[in-house]
Amino acid sequence: MTDACALPPEKVKPVIKAVRPEPVVLPELMALADWMHDRYLCNLVDALRLMIPSELRGGRVREKTRRVAHLELDGAGIDEFIAKNPRAKKQIGIVERLRAGDVETAVLDSAALKALEKKGAVSIYLSEQRRTPAALSDDAHTPDPVLMPGQARAVEALTDALSTGGRFLLHGVTGSGKTEVYIRLIRQALQMGRTAIVLVPEIALTPQMVSWLHGRFGADAAVLHSALSAGERFDEWRRIRSGAARVVIGARSAIFAPLQNIGCIIVDEEHESSYQSDHRPRYDAREIAWHRAEAHRAVLVLGSATPAIATYMRTERGVRPENRLKLIELRQRVKDRPLPEVELVDMRGEFDKGNRSIFSARLAQELQVCLDGGHQAMLFINRRGHSTFVSCRKCGYVVKCGQCDVSMTYHQSEEQLRCHYCGSTMPPPRTCPQCGSAYIKYFGAGTQKVEAEVARLFPQARVARMDIDTTQRKDAHQRILDAFRRGDTYVLVGTQMIAKGLDFPNVTLVGVVAADMTLNLPDFRSVERTFQLITQVAGRAGRADDPGRVVVQTYDPDHYGIRCAAAQDYRAFYTRESANRRLALYPPFTVIARVVFSGKDEELVKRTALAAEATLNEYADRHGVRDDVVQLRAAEAPIGLLRGEHRWQLFVKLYFRADVEAVASRMRQIADDAPEGVRGELEVDPVNMI
Ligand code: ADP
Ligand code: ZN
Ligand code: ZN
Repeated sequence: MTDACALPPEKVKPVIKAVRPEPVVLPELMALADWMHDRYLCNLVDALRLMIPSELRGGRVREKTRRVAHLELDGAGIDEFIAKNPRAKKQIGIVERLRAGDVETAVLDSAALKALEKKGAVSIYLSEQRRTPAALSDDAHTPDPVLMPGQARAVEALTDALSTGGRFLLHGVTGSGKTEVYIRLIRQALQMGRTAIVLVPEIALTPQMVSWLHGRFGADAAVLHSALSAGERFDEWRRIRSGAARVVIGARSAIFAPLQNIGCIIVDEEHESSYQSDHRPRYDAREIAWHRAEAHRAVLVLGSATPAIATYMRTERGVRPENRLKLIELRQRVKDRPLPEVELVDMRGEFDKGNRSIFSARLAQELQVCLDGGHQAMLFINRRGHSTFVSCRKCGYVVKCGQCDVSMTYHQSEEQLRCHYCGSTMPPPRTCPQCGSAYIKYFGAGTQKVEAEVARLFPQARVARMDIDTTQRKDAHQRILDAFRRGDTYVLVGTQMIAKGLDFPNVTLVGVVAADMTLNLPDFRSVERTFQLITQVAGRAGRADDPGRVVVQTYDPDHYGIRCAAAQDYRAFYTRESANRRLALYPPFTVIARVVFSGKDEELVKRTALAAEATLNEYADRHGVRDDVVQLRAAEAPIGLLRGEHRWQLFVKLYFRADVEAVASRMRQIADDAPEGVRGELEVDPVNMI
């Protein structure tokens, strides 16, 4: 803060009042915002917005206070009061009650209370009340388990680094007890008077992580995430800012928590794409974590059973020290439980055998065994809805969204076709809109179809479904997962929502219904994502004393992504996939950036993209960037129509050595220069390539 400034006086506005008694943005975060401004080519204001809760920016929410009554009389005073006012039964009642301790005024008789206050027998004061997020409510204290040798080694290496700072990749197979390692590290940091941040992909999907951390750290822990009410978030933010809460758990944006003296930052399931923001500012929480850890000389831990290829590559020898991560491995599950056995089922064989069900004979049989044994099963399919597309058998017409260039998904429970990109709906056609035939067929499977198939084959089994459609309401996630944990339901069908971090001891069977669904998407990460998904879901099985079984159904059983996932062999996958990326010149060996142009006028959008291509080509030639360019072209985006807007992209692939920031900054300018009616959006390292 300062009393003087270099600006001309007419530019300086008087301060009306301070929003908070203390600075809202800590100096370290201020510097971070500056850095983000350069790194992500975003406005400073956009970066700062991430660091100040909206409640503070708008000033709508206040501390929630309650009025509390306090007795001003001692024992003798009470006797005297009763003797003097024998008929004031209500007042005497209140006095008796307050004798045991202060009480909120709301529950007391207000007239009697007022009388007491007037007599000076009772005083009223304001007490601040903390709104407690639901996830933190249970206050069980959990004792420490004895660490496995691998865990102990990991904890030692990490805590040793607390004095100097350090960066680690904790690569531990599913069920290896990574959370326990985090907990011990955090505890050590707290003992040193420091603080900690734990990032998880999505709070609602990681209720266990939250309850475990809370079980160990109690009121020291705070949660930050988007589903909190405005009041809850505000209160949590203030508890953090004031130093009352020293462990922050949250999704992506919790990385901006106003903690001081950070000792460790943990990014769990670091491979998740949700750590990258898909709107401005397009930051990567892992990168911010890296930066903040450096500023605090803290320990950074990226944890995963299936690290991103780009992350794992940083652990290799030859990586420059400033980019390097130290690798710590947990190769064993806790209590030396075996990894689940995975069986690949070739679905082409099923079709030949006349099985038209979406379940192979094998999966159906295993489900039977699992349910007969009183165990639970999880069935995973990475698509919601019932049928993934609707088509005419006679002419091949596929029903598409009028606003987007994608096929409509049939949702049985609502009897509707639904676009998964823009949300628009329409009733399913009875006859083909193109040729008029009545041969309308439903193809492909989603969660609703799997649910229906379980109900058909096992009418006695109670099934629950977890996908975006069933989790719209607040706390819906929690309710579905709690019911499954209690054993109210026996089969849980779901999308990737059920793939992550869940730990259900009674689950002995995991079925991956359509493993290759994500394999052939137009994205260089599609194999990596498929591998991660299968490995992660497979890891949900056999996490307690009963061994787990996994059945993976696929039409492509020889694909290395599927094979390595079935073998749960990350190293083999990494070796193969990184070699492919190197050959095909894909990230992390190159950097991809694009400007997506969108607008109503298709011709104008196209012209803009082509002009942008010419401009950037000229820039590349003039500024000696040509040799760094692998690819530079304008083309229609993979989804050419989205929410009624036509889309073209200026796609650029650069060698790693290139001055990416300079090129990106030129591209940002090109994006901003789009003519009226066209929007240009720069994406460096795009989260997805649609
Ligand atoms: P991961 O995240 O590596 O998949 P988790 O952290 O979910 O593994 O741990 C798996 C299970 O093992 C949890 O139920 C956890 O409470 C338990 N666990 C972790 N460490 C130990 C240990 N040392 N002894 C006994 N149980 C443990
Ligand atoms: Zn037709
Ligand atoms: Zn649509």
